Amino acid sequence: MIEAESKTSHWWQRIPLYLQIAIALILAVSVGILLGGGNPAAGNIALINNLAVPCDLVLKILRALATPLILLAVVHTFLTANIPGTAGRRLFVLLLTNTTVAILIGLLVANILQPGKWGQIRAPEGSADNIKNLDPWALLQNMVPSSVVEPLVNNNVLQIIVIALSFGIVLRALKKEQVASNKINYEALEWVIGTLFDAVVRILEWVIALIPLAVFGIVAKTVALEGFTPFKSLGALIIAVLVALFLQACYYLIRVKIGSWVNPLQFLTGGFDAFMTAFSTSSSTVTMPITFRVLQEKIGLRESSASLGALVGSNFNNDGTALYEAMAALFIAQVLNRNLDLLQQLIVVLTSVFASVGAAGIPNAGLVTMTLVFSSVGLPTQYIALLITVDWFLDRCRTAINVMGDMTVSALLDGKQKKPDVEMIGSESEQLE
Ligand code: ASP
Repeated sequence: MIEAESKTSHWWQRIPLYLQIAIALILAVSVGILLGGGNPAAGNIALINNLAVPCDLVLKILRALATPLILLAVVHTFLTANIPGTAGRRLFVLLLTNTTVAILIGLLVANILQPGKWGQIRAPEGSADNIKNLDPWALLQNMVPSSVVEPLVNNNVLQIIVIALSFGIVLRALKKEQVASNKINYEALEWVIGTLFDAVVRILEWVIALIPLAVFGIVAKTVALEGFTPFKSLGALIIAVLVALFLQACYYLIRVKIGSWVNPLQFLTGGFDAFMTAFSTSSSTVTMPITFRVLQEKIGLRESSASLGALVGSNFNNDGTALYEAMAALFIAQVLNRNLDLLQQLIVVLTSVFASVGAAGIPNAGLVTMTLVFSSVGLPTQYIALLITVDWFLDRCRTAINVMGDMTVSALLDGKQKKPDVEMIGSESEQLE
């Protein structure tokens, strides 16, 4: 979608986002040094603080968009996805196991490397004492909202997912029952939900266009007030996330080796186009047609397994995102010098699973749903401002892992038996269009 608009856009909008962010970073560092580089003059403080305004606004909009995005993405997938019974159950188990492993790997790496301790970041005012001591039973009780609109108002991710899943499941069942008797025109309903979802994504694209400005402001402010120390931690976070994503990729290859007929090397080389597209577009949805094609044509999976993994997985299966959200939460807790205990980390696991299910396969969606993970464990969302500076890169990496996760699920669904050679490869790929 972003690419399609480029013909009618201004010249600066045609500069790729990562380049805009890189330029913003260079300018921000220069301005930050000019304004004090960690030792600002008292007269400049008000001006420096105002530099954070664009970033605050971007975060505010992201928080506002998170709920409709999750709600519409989940309901839309339930209404439109074609999931046959038994394969559907297998798919569900595979998705849940892979996502849980991803989060556990993320938490393990974050606990061992402790990226949040590598540098000091000053806590935003009033944020340090915010971490809630959570009781799991209270959390369970809290999953049931006391009104349908309350979670929308309070941005409560667990309650929103409960509502989205309930409506999604019910609408899907009603569709099945009534489509035959032609009582309700479900195409109209699908169209309305699909269009609303597209509208939210379009607004999100406007916000994403503002990210270079937000990065400029927050980095200039940070350099001016605190110098470069905070960036040590962010560098450590990048390393830690890359290590965790690499481990997750190894896990996928082992799963493919043990649970399917596909050779892991063939999986890697055959999937290369999909991984590269995911890395360059930061969107598993945009990559989906390529994922579907390589699974069938280059790796040689059955059409049914390829479509379940790629089409359904690209909506629901975001292991890279789940891993990142859990690590980001732990990272910020470490920065605040408040290590989350095991129970609190469990809550992070739970909310990250839900947040990754709700994250649409579009650029920076993880950043949007992360606001909800943070609020559910009481971490200050102001820190997401700093994560924005590295998200353009980490988003690409986690998207590639999201796609690899979808492909792994497809290979596992294909099983230990290769399809017979007589079957025509790619003959049904039109279904995708
Ligand atoms: N960009 C990711 C995807 O499309 C989602 C995310 O932001 O984590 O899969």
